[in-house]
Formats: sequence, C-alpha cells, structure tokens
Amino acid sequence: MDKKKRIVIALGGNALGNTLPEQMAAVKITSKAIVDLIEEGCEVVIAHGNGPQVGMINNAMSALSREDPNQPNTPLSVCVAMSQAYIGYDLQNALREELLNRNITHIPVATMITQIRVDSDDPAFLNPSKPIGHFMTKEQAQEAEEKYGYIMREDAGRGYRRVVASPKPAQIIEIGAIRTLVDSGQLVIACGGGGIPVTLNGNHLKGASAVIDKDFASELLAEELDADVLIILTAVEKVAVNFGKPEEKWLDNLTTAEARTYMDEGHFAPGSMLPKVQAAVKFAESKEGRTALITLLEKAREGILGKTGTHIHR
Ligand code: ADP
Ligand code: MG
Repeated sequence: MDKKKRIVIALGGNALGNTLPEQMAAVKITSKAIVDLIEEGCEVVIAHGNGPQVGMINNAMSALSREDPNQPNTPLSVCVAMSQAYIGYDLQNALREELLNRNITHIPVATMITQIRVDSDDPAFLNPSKPIGHFMTKEQAQEAEEKYGYIMREDAGRGYRRVVASPKPAQIIEIGAIRTLVDSGQLVIACGGGGIPVTLNGNHLKGASAVIDKDFASELLAEELDADVLIILTAVEKVAVNFGKPEEKWLDNLTTAEARTYMDEGHFAPGSMLPKVQAAVKFAESKEGRTALITLLEKAREGILGKTGTHIHR
C-alpha cells in the first residue's frame, strides 16, 4: 500500500462561526469534513484562523480592564492564546465525537498551544493590515480610535473593523512536540489563529502585538511536517479570475507560474484570497511533489479525490 498522504488543513472563518453558539454548531460540520479525509486514508493535521474569536476575546478583556482598575489590558498575544484554547476545546471535542460515531477508536485528538516566532523588524509592524473582530459603523469606529487607540479601517464596503499587524511566521516554536504527536498517529490541532506571535529575546519569548495570517502559518506547518498537500478550506469552492465580474472564471488547476501572473494582475483580494494563493504557491514550490488545494469546507473529500476545488501545483 502507498504511504498515507500527509495533509495540513487550514480552516477558515466559515469553519468556526462568529459567536459561541455558532462555533459549537460549525465545528460539528467541520469535523465531518475532516473525518471524511481520514476515512479516505489521509493523515491529517489541522490549523485554523481566529479573526472573530480573537476580536471577541480582545473586546471582552478590554471591557474588563475598563471596569476593574486592578486588571491591566490583556496583550493581543494572550488573546490569541485564549482563542487557541477555546477553539481547540470545541474542535477537539467535536472531532473526538465524530471519530467515535464512525467507529474510529484508535486516533486520539489533541490541541497544541503553539507559539510562532516573528521578526521584530518585520515591516508589517509599521503597517497594520489584518482585520479582527466585529464590524462597526463609522461612528463606533471613531469612538474606538479615540477611546482605545485602535486603528480602524473600512473593510470592503461591509463596515469598519480594527486592524492589527500581521507579520510573517518565521519559526514554529513547538514544532518538535507537534511532529512527535503527528508521527505517532494522533490528530493534532496546531498553529491556531496563525499561532501566538512571539519575538525572541535571548532565551526569552516575548508576546508580540499582532495576529499572524493562518494561511501563512499553515503553509509553514505543512513544510515543517513534510506534508504532501496543503488544503485551505474556505467559503468558496474554487479560486476565480475576474472574481465577481461578468467574465468570472473558476479555476480547476493552477500552475504556480500562472498563479504569479494572476496575482500580479490583481485577481485575488488582499487579506482574503491573496494570502491563500500566496501560501499555496509557496508550498507547491517548496519541494517536488507538493501540491495545494483551495476549496469549500464541505467539499474537502471531493477535493482530495480530484473532483473539485482549485489544485495548485508546479
Ligand atoms: P477565510 O476565513 O477562509 O480565510 P476569507 O474571507 O479570508 O476566508 O477569504 C475567502 C473569500 O475570498 C471568499 O469567500 C471570496 O469572497 C473572496 N475572494 C476574493 N477574491 C477571490 C477570488 N479571486 N476567487 C475566489 N474568492 C475570492
Ligand atoms: Mg482569511
């Protein structure tokens, strides 16, 4: 028999929902899609985003420190850590249940609290770009800027959101532990919310005020685990050129060279599809035989069987 395909899955916002009850419901559907891949004989590792969750936690913690002078403001890195634990908790329980429902009893599920080193002189720190948290009206956004010093940006005609720095991931601190668990056959959730961003200060890891893009963190995880496929599960079945325009064309296959051309031509929106295509290209070019797939969460099984999604390869 062939060696099992090792797959790193990056879960997007639609896999986790926006509120506590939404997440509870979403992880059930997400777990079905993931266990489908395990049933197809894949070895799966899971990473995920945290945009709404980290925004929610950050708002709650700021409200606490406004109310109680003994509670200083919670650093964003701590909010990311909280989001990893909260999402991991829901996701690992839903996965455990789905595995047992299908009589798969030999795969333990675990969430790894993961820190990712970023460069303290990453230019992203000077240009906050990643939207987190809920949408606000112009008036609410102005108030948040004045009261809390947040940097607010208009987000694609949908309202205003807080933006934070999004540096590139340089090194996964817990990679040794993750690899040990994965190699021993466990289903691991790692690099949640793009990983807790830290900078290295001698032997000390210092939390950074940032949120790493989960598409790039997942890509690094896939390289480090020598995965065969990076699957980015999101809210569209395929990647399009001329997205949302009359000439829109959905892509089944995309070479990394074609992807570069389309990126230069501006077909992929920054902050949503662009980082996915960038991550897919980086992974596909990182080693012979590696490929990436971008598709809809519910289509993961069909995607890995080559029936749908956009497949990115050299
Ligand atoms: P996630 O939470 O999964 O990271 P995002 O909202 O960040 O999801 O990115 C996925 C979204 O990117 C899609 O729902 C779609 O609206 C948008 N998008 C932008 N450009 C394209 C494109 N060229 N092809 C397909 N989708 C695109
Ligand atoms: Mg995204």
